Amino acid sequence: MNLIEFIKEQNQPLEELVDLLPIPIFYKDRKGVYLGCNKAFEEFIKLPRKKLVGKTVHELFPKGKADIYFQKDEELFNSPGIQVYDGQVASRENDLYNVRFHKATFKNDSGEITGLIGAVFDITKEVMQEKHLEKLASYDELTGIYNRRKGMLLLGNLIDQSKYGKLPFSVIMMDIDHFKKINDTYGHSYGDEILKVISQILKKNLRDQDIVFRHGGDEFIYFLPKLSREEAFLVSERIKMSILKRFENHEKKICRDLSASFGIALFPHDGSNVDQLINRADDAMYRVKTSGRNGIGFVDTV
Ligand code: GH3
Ligand code: MG
Repeated sequence: MNLIEFIKEQNQPLEELVDLLPIPIFYKDRKGVYLGCNKAFEEFIKLPRKKLVGKTVHELFPKGKADIYFQKDEELFNSPGIQVYDGQVASRENDLYNVRFHKATFKNDSGEITGLIGAVFDITKEVMQEKHLEKLASYDELTGIYNRRKGMLLLGNLIDQSKYGKLPFSVIMMDIDHFKKINDTYGHSYGDEILKVISQILKKNLRDQDIVFRHGGDEFIYFLPKLSREEAFLVSERIKMSILKRFENHEKKICRDLSASFGIALFPHDGSNVDQLINRADDAMYRVKTSGRNGIGFVDTV
């Protein structure tokens, strides 16, 4: 049967049928002119079908979005069959939805492609849930900064980018000194609050392009794109001093001595992958611990 003729001549029974489906459905001819849609599609784009039929996407939607719809239709016409893809659509009232399109071409009796039919599945809830899960998987629950998984991933990305341009950067490991004493004296929840304050001090002292994450326990790592050893030292010195200052008049006596130890490793000099860099920064930090704490050390190159 020649579908395009059928749609043009007997659109009403077809519309009545597709109106029964709650999924937005539309159909267009080979030039991208809307031939019809169902009620769910009218409600979805907030436009009655009598204003839709006979128009193209460029007559109905803002240019940016219309260009994408048009290009996707052309892709399907050029490679006929089925097309499934995710995108965003805006209703005529500009509400944004995340959607999954399922589209298919149809032919006339001589086998020529004469149009397409599409269904729009609203996946906004799923996309929001995915983003929420991604957030949960990326941030440390206690401190709100990046967790180890996300931090290592971003460090890996920075290594990949920096390898290409041979751009150096620094990775710094920081561990709070004698943190166990705080937990033991004032309780674990009190220790938690201190970890939150430390995270905020770190964030405050870093630039937007720097990344800081909780490596675990009372250990944090930050990396500073494009900064030299000396600059990394100055940033770390500023953080070290901020910690001392923030706690020097603290209500709890033991917290007044709160300090941290830092180890700086430099890419690519001290390591060329995530594990090497973190291990070298850890070695440098560990030496600071054994030589009295409250200090900043570089990787021992001897
Ligand atoms: P050092 O100067 O050698 O680093 O001594 P330290 O007492 O800080 O010892 P270390 O860094 O080895 O241990 C960190 C402690 O942090 C161990 C653990 O009880 C505590 N800790 C780890 N995670 C948490 C947490 O989420 N909350 C609290 N309150 N404490 C934690
Ligand atoms: Mg510690």
